[in-house]
Amino acid sequence: IPPHLRNREASKQGFDSGGWSSRRDKDAYSSFGARSDRDSKSSFFDRGTGSRGGRYEERGRGGDYDRSGFGRFDRGGGNSRWCDKSDEDDWSKPLPPSERLEQELFSGSNTGINFEKYDDIPVEATGSNCPPHIESFSDVDMGEIIMGNIELTRYTRPTPVQKHAIPIIKEKRDLMACAQTGSGKTAAFLLPILSQIYADGPGDALRAMKENGRYGRRKQYPISLVLAPTRELAVQIYEEARKFAYRSRVRPCVVYGGADIGQQIRDLERGCHLLVATPGRLVDMMERGKIGLDFCKYLVLDEADRMLDMGFEPQIRRIVEQDTMPPKGVRHTMMFSATFPKEIQMLARDFLDEYIFLAVGRVGSTSENITQKVVWVEEPDKRSFLLDLLNATGKDSLTLVFVETKKGADALEDFLYHEGYACTSIHGDRSQRDREEALHQFRSGKSPILVATAVAARGLDISNVKHVINFDLPSDIEEYVHRIGRTGRVGNLGLATSFFNERNINITKDLLDLLVEAKQEVPSWLENMAYEQHHKGGGSRGRSKRCKSLELIKRHFLLPFIGGGYGGFYNSDGYGGNYNSQGVDWWGN
Ligand code: ADP
Ligand code: MG
Repeated sequence: IPPHLRNREASKQGFDSGGWSSRRDKDAYSSFGARSDRDSKSSFFDRGTGSRGGRYEERGRGGDYDRSGFGRFDRGGGNSRWCDKSDEDDWSKPLPPSERLEQELFSGSNTGINFEKYDDIPVEATGSNCPPHIESFSDVDMGEIIMGNIELTRYTRPTPVQKHAIPIIKEKRDLMACAQTGSGKTAAFLLPILSQIYADGPGDALRAMKENGRYGRRKQYPISLVLAPTRELAVQIYEEARKFAYRSRVRPCVVYGGADIGQQIRDLERGCHLLVATPGRLVDMMERGKIGLDFCKYLVLDEADRMLDMGFEPQIRRIVEQDTMPPKGVRHTMMFSATFPKEIQMLARDFLDEYIFLAVGRVGSTSENITQKVVWVEEPDKRSFLLDLLNATGKDSLTLVFVETKKGADALEDFLYHEGYACTSIHGDRSQRDREEALHQFRSGKSPILVATAVAARGLDISNVKHVINFDLPSDIEEYVHRIGRTGRVGNLGLATSFFNERNINITKDLLDLLVEAKQEVPSWLENMAYEQHHKGGGSRGRSKRCKSLELIKRHFLLPFIGGGYGGFYNSDGYGGNYNSQGVDWWGN
């Protein structure tokens, strides 16, 4: 029995009592900020206190660990670090502020989440002894540094995934969380992990680093590792980590493929307590002896489904299971994924210990937020059809165009460019610099049209996309759901248009189901095609794997928590078994 279905009764009660009543919401929000965090706030924002002023910046330049008095940890082993506790050794105390850094980290605009929509998202936690969720950041003690940085980021209250994940992680429970992109997963894991690192101090990791420093090998032993599928996503997580590590002694680093490894190594050598990495590059770093995971207490797999789709499973297993990483149960592991197919369930079984399963529904519903249109367009007509769509789109709204191949992306970008459209593209063959530049051009609105392959766009926080165009439809419905999720995010309305022709026959049935489910207009030709396919035979020959994950997507994104309806994804015998419409359903009803 999967851990999150064990003690079902207990966890159900937990959920009910910590449930979704609007009264609780109101109470919690009205008390937000009225607590004692005022006190810590005043000291946090008290600039230039103490005689250590300025050292923060010094340290920012790196290489001066010893100067900050950390050497003292060396004297005792293990836990005795607190024996010699002075203000300087205490990682929970904020370092002096730096106006320059503050400006750099926090001056960017906030996306402005529409919490009115967010608050309605259903969330369910299953698993034994699940800690109750919080309603405001001040409901849980994350320490002075974190609270100060939350204030600086101007996050006024937690998103649903944060409300649930933060206390779960704070209590050191392993977590498997299914939530859509844009729901605030990054802070959901960074805040509790960093707050614990601040509270506990560096422990053995620091000693190990100093030990091996004596032998001239500058291997780093990060306390926390975050694995992410793409360079862009890794950089985003890193940027977020820098914000929440402001005024702390934690130094975040990021490593990813396609960029100069020498530069990344030099950066690591300046100290690395929290590492964000793509799996391939991390394996490389480990093999070069630059990173040791021996003291990695917190492991996060972000966008786990995408990492597997990209073929990273061997590298992930190498990192987690075949090296020096502490075993599950010793380390604390969190997995995040948009979907929960069989491969992810297997990974969860292997990596997580007595985990809590968190399912977070969609912002509103697809039907509410995203208008989905499917149009029949023959291959040769696609370009002119696209121009019509682009001309009908407002000048300053962002349009994301998905194509299937890298070559297709280049060709379409060239075409649009010659037609006089400000556009850019992003795909796996682009150099790192080109990709970052393209993304910047798009986000800033300089190039309001971005042509992308699915892999390159995964996990990116591209907000305010008004229109997603599937110039080429993907071959599976999961990918379709991911793509259209780029629009209608954070409570905004969005439009998704897909070009359909003979090449996309394989997605007919799933697409039709999805449109019906989301109460979208269904073209009659699509219905006819699905009907014909069904009657050509094969339609009722058992459910495919894809159908199974479609059930799951609907469950998570479209019809969360509406009882009945769907049969059990789970068998009582555990992971990923057969699809069994008679069995226990997802929520154990
Ligand atoms: P995900 O990883 O789920 O795709 P992100 O962590 O990238 O989502 O967050 C999406 C956006 O929402 C980011 O721009 C982030 O800064 C913002 N955000 C996250 N949490 C909050 C919050 N509590 N209040 C306001 N904005 C938030
Ligand atoms: Mg994310």
